[in-house]
Amino acid sequence: MRATRSEETPLTQDLTTTPLNPAQREIQETLGASAEQRPTFRDDLRDDLRSQLEHSFFELLHDEIQLPIFLSKHGLNLLHGCEARFMAEQDDEFEWSIPMARGTVTHKAIELHIGRRGNHTPIDLVEDAISRLENEERSISGFLRELVESDRAQLVADSNEVVAAFFETFPPIKRRWVPVCESRVRADFCDDNITLAGKIDLTLGQAKGMTAGKVIFDLKTGRSHPSHTDDLRFYALVETLKVGTPPRLLVNYYLESGTPRYEAVTEDLLFITARRVIDGVRKYIELNQTNPRPAEFTPGMNCRWCPINESCEAGQRELNRQAEEYDEL
Ligand code: SF4
Repeated sequence: MRATRSEETPLTQDLTTTPLNPAQREIQETLGASAEQRPTFRDDLRDDLRSQLEHSFFELLHDEIQLPIFLSKHGLNLLHGCEARFMAEQDDEFEWSIPMARGTVTHKAIELHIGRRGNHTPIDLVEDAISRLENEERSISGFLRELVESDRAQLVADSNEVVAAFFETFPPIKRRWVPVCESRVRADFCDDNITLAGKIDLTLGQAKGMTAGKVIFDLKTGRSHPSHTDDLRFYALVETLKVGTPPRLLVNYYLESGTPRYEAVTEDLLFITARRVIDGVRKYIELNQTNPRPAEFTPGMNCRWCPINESCEAGQRELNRQAEEYDEL
């Protein structure tokens, strides 16, 4: 028998008529910026950014480097964080784990939530997301298919927690906001020998001509870190190179605390980011050319997830320091 409205749980209520809580209201109000709050950029901004990047890349390229070079936000962060970890990850074969899979599953579940009519509970969306990912031809598919039942249950529980937090703290997404999940951005340079690419968790809104309208979200499950700001700036740059009009706003959205961290996009921000990318490509080339310089070790938060942390002296010292700090807390 179908449930009557009075028997429905809060999660299956008509979300379009449910009053918003303060966390949801904050996001909704930010998204509803008036026309005056949307900056208009100059027509030739994309051309200027592209020619600065292309010109600098051509100056850096030489015969003793293997091409093509592919740079994502993660690689760029490691190059500016710990070069030794960047090199270690380059040589290491990527292995899926439950914490890694959680991110992919939750993004897929949110994508299904946005695209699907009707209301669905987070756990149903998570189950559906896992089934779909299992049946796709992606690197995660085999990992999911081979999970033992208890690990699968752990993945469902962990992902459900994140998706439920998203439901609870994010306003119900309206189709007229033009939501797009996992949108790919990419920019190629120097006859396709250098590529900057990424996949954005969620975008809402669109530009109108040269007036910015898009808001880019990165959905975060852990605590905040300064590199998260750099990640979004990288996306803003590549998005501008793709579309021509920059996004309006960058938002790191911390699901555990329901806290958004905003940054408005400006022309200066884009050129500063372009210089950071050029510097990252320079470091990449210095570390990967025929006679490379040694990679620098820079211990920090990076050490916890580093594939060589057990054999890295600097990393061990840092991890011990962090453990002591944690004990004191
Ligand atoms: S353990 Fe830390 S310092 Fe050592 S390589 Fe990894 S990230 Fe760098």
